[in-house]
Amino acid sequence: MSSSFLQISNVKKTFTTPEGGEVHALDDVSLDINSGEFFVMLGPSGCGKTTLLRSIAGLEYPDSGTITLDGQRIDDLPAYDRPVNTVFQSYALFPHMTVGENIAFGLEMEKIEKSEITRRVSDALDQVKLSGLENRKPTQLSGGQQQRVALARALAKKPKVLLLDEPLSALDLKLRRGMQIELKRLQQDTGITFVFVTHDQEEAMSMGDRIAVFKDGKIIQLDTPREIYRRPVNSFVADFIGETNLLDGTADNLGVKVAGGGFIARELIAPDCQVPAAGQVTIAIRPEDFEISTTTGAISGIVRDVIFTGDSVRVHVDLGATEVVATLPSYGERVPDRGATISLNPLPQSARTVAS
Ligand code: ATP
Repeated sequence: MSSSFLQISNVKKTFTTPEGGEVHALDDVSLDINSGEFFVMLGPSGCGKTTLLRSIAGLEYPDSGTITLDGQRIDDLPAYDRPVNTVFQSYALFPHMTVGENIAFGLEMEKIEKSEITRRVSDALDQVKLSGLENRKPTQLSGGQQQRVALARALAKKPKVLLLDEPLSALDLKLRRGMQIELKRLQQDTGITFVFVTHDQEEAMSMGDRIAVFKDGKIIQLDTPREIYRRPVNSFVADFIGETNLLDGTADNLGVKVAGGGFIARELIAPDCQVPAAGQVTIAIRPEDFEISTTTGAISGIVRDVIFTGDSVRVHVDLGATEVVATLPSYGERVPDRGATISLNPLPQSARTVAS
């Protein structure tokens, strides 16, 4: 992997709304995407991720900043001159053309030789596992198959970067999971750099080599899924990526006194976290990092709900001031009863202090 294959530098984009207000869709965004990387842009609705994708595609022009791809500045080029291709959530296939014709269309526009077009169409169909269906019309395909055609059409053009704008969100959950695995494999097999936009954190975690988490037009954290999950930079990321219990408290020399009762000793807090000697802090603990204690624990409360989810049991514990969720394996462990008073301990070094 070479670094800085796709370089976004200080990109800003402000929209004027019909109501006369201003929205800073991109607020000085800089990031470097590596060649051959599966890069995910993740964030809640309206955070600016689509605006950035469209700026790379040339469907939107930044107010300032630069976009460089493989050493070439592309932000001032028209969309058709950029060596990138986009797959949209709406498949945008031509309904009157066959699958094969849909894939060939863009290549014909580029005046590519006929034999080369035939070869590329056949390769692309192979890659997305649609060989044999080239004479069907899009209406004769399922939603998942139509999405594969859109993907094949984009791949056949051999882009340097493939941009994917929530491409799986119209598919049902099971199909979506299957396509996530296939897309990841396809990216690894072709070695094409993928930039994938989603608001689904699970999708981002399972597919991305790295994830940029966006909020209000800014990148809040950029790292591998594992690092983002284990070391969220603030309570927004901790809560947005996976599930987290956030507990407010007051720090002292020995640990953190939890508001409403309980104490998280320093040895339970990850060593890379800064715990001040005094003052207000927020502690984040993942549900799977709680252990139920039969004796005393860091915090205690009353079991409000016990929910069996198959491989695990979710235990909702009312601490008085707030409620936390602990997940336990559904086998082996003694599962507490609803109404019982229990104590919980975070695993050593699993609790984290997070900025609010
Ligand atoms: P979603 O997941 O809902 O698509 P997003 O994170 O992709 O959201 P963007 O589509 O990039 O967000 O939009 C960022 C902000 O810019 C939003 O507040 C949106 O309302 C605003 N916006 C986007 N396009 C325009 C436009 N053409 N005119 C005015 N405001 C716009």
